[in-house]
Amino acid sequence: MARVVMKFGGTSVADMDRIRNVAQRVKKEVDAGNEVAVVVSAMAGVTNQLVGYVQDAGKLYDAREYDTVVSAGEQITSGLLAICLQEIGVDARSWLGWQAPIQTNEAHGSARILDIDCSEIINRFEKQGQVAVFAGFQGLATDGRISTLGRGGSDTSAVAIAAAMKADRCDIYTDVDGIYTTDPRIVPKARKLEKITYEEMLELASQGAKVLQTRSVEMAMKHNVRVQVLSSFEDKPGTFVVDEDEIVEKALVSGIAYNRNEAKITLRNVPDHPGVAAAVFGPMTDAAINVDMIIQNVSAKGDCTDMTFTISQGDLERTLRLLEDKRGELKYERLDHSSDLVKISVIGVGMRSHAGVAQQMFGALAEKGINIDVISTSEIKISVLVAEEYTELALRALHTAYGLDAEEEDA
Ligand code: ADP
Ligand code: ASP
Ligand code: MG
Repeated sequence: MARVVMKFGGTSVADMDRIRNVAQRVKKEVDAGNEVAVVVSAMAGVTNQLVGYVQDAGKLYDAREYDTVVSAGEQITSGLLAICLQEIGVDARSWLGWQAPIQTNEAHGSARILDIDCSEIINRFEKQGQVAVFAGFQGLATDGRISTLGRGGSDTSAVAIAAAMKADRCDIYTDVDGIYTTDPRIVPKARKLEKITYEEMLELASQGAKVLQTRSVEMAMKHNVRVQVLSSFEDKPGTFVVDEDEIVEKALVSGIAYNRNEAKITLRNVPDHPGVAAAVFGPMTDAAINVDMIIQNVSAKGDCTDMTFTISQGDLERTLRLLEDKRGELKYERLDHSSDLVKISVIGVGMRSHAGVAQQMFGALAEKGINIDVISTSEIKISVLVAEEYTELALRALHTAYGLDAEEEDA
């Protein structure tokens, strides 16, 4: 007997037939003698629609009310799945974030889980075999109101619940049958991985691969939760996220991610003296604006510098306003910005011990005539910023260059 958390994403619960299909999969685990808790997302498209309503209601909306509205999708699917399970003879009960409760901080819109009390739920499946169906994505903030965990947050709900109830496995059912070397919807030759390390998955997720929410991977790594990503439509094993020592052959590059949500800002001719970077980025930190890549160049004049950095597109308006307000103090000559960019990142633990990985990337992009705007590197990752129109071309070229393409018959 195992204790299993099963999470189903939006496409897996997109309509009543799919919810009934999910109920059958849950029943199979229960019939196998396992203790099961389920986490569901909202039906596909519902959260986007709810976010749209909120944006329509008010430009500078209240984050607490945003959470009240956008958490509603998961309430519906948790209730529907509980009914569908009952219909096929499985004892089931839905649990909303405030009921368990899944306690979070007060960062409405992207709250962090602080604590989960699973005692009642464990009690119920031990005593009567009852399946708990959690509404994912939502929690109870310390201010007493509903919170949500950021887009894709049901993954984090699932891993957190698995950690809290010391589950043997956390299975993330989705619309692809595992984690691939890159997004299989963009690169048809992407190859399914049998295993990937927590660290690589963390980089892939944080660089844009939305198959798992970044925080869910962080949490799995911290609490050693065994996560598997698999298809809710096919019956076959998926990809396991594991410790590095479980992987014998360490690939140089194991995955490629992309993120279209980047915006680039350049401050031209900023006076070059100590403290200038602090003066630019300090106010942005205070405004909770995350800066990603940064480059600073000595400009032709010598006493001035150009400073380029990237942020997410959602923060662009606020950042521009902030920097324009500070123009008198920062004394830059001009401010340029653009958003038609994509950040492409190649990731692999093998990079630690091998040289030349970056050169391979630059060579492959040059061969396709793709200009690189900004470059940044870390221990197991190299990222470049290129024009958005080259997303597909660059991904496919890099995938081939690093020898990741699937064999013809697998593709
Ligand atoms: P769910 O609704 O089940 O949470 P998501 O849409 O959030 O599903 O995540 C699954 C999607 O992630 C896939 O449809 C795929 O397009 C995308 N994806 C991006 N990168 C990868 C990758 N490396 N491996 C698998 N899927 C990926
Ligand atoms: N429904 C939420 C979203 O679309 C949470 C999730 O699906 O994980 O972001
Ligand atoms: Mg998701």
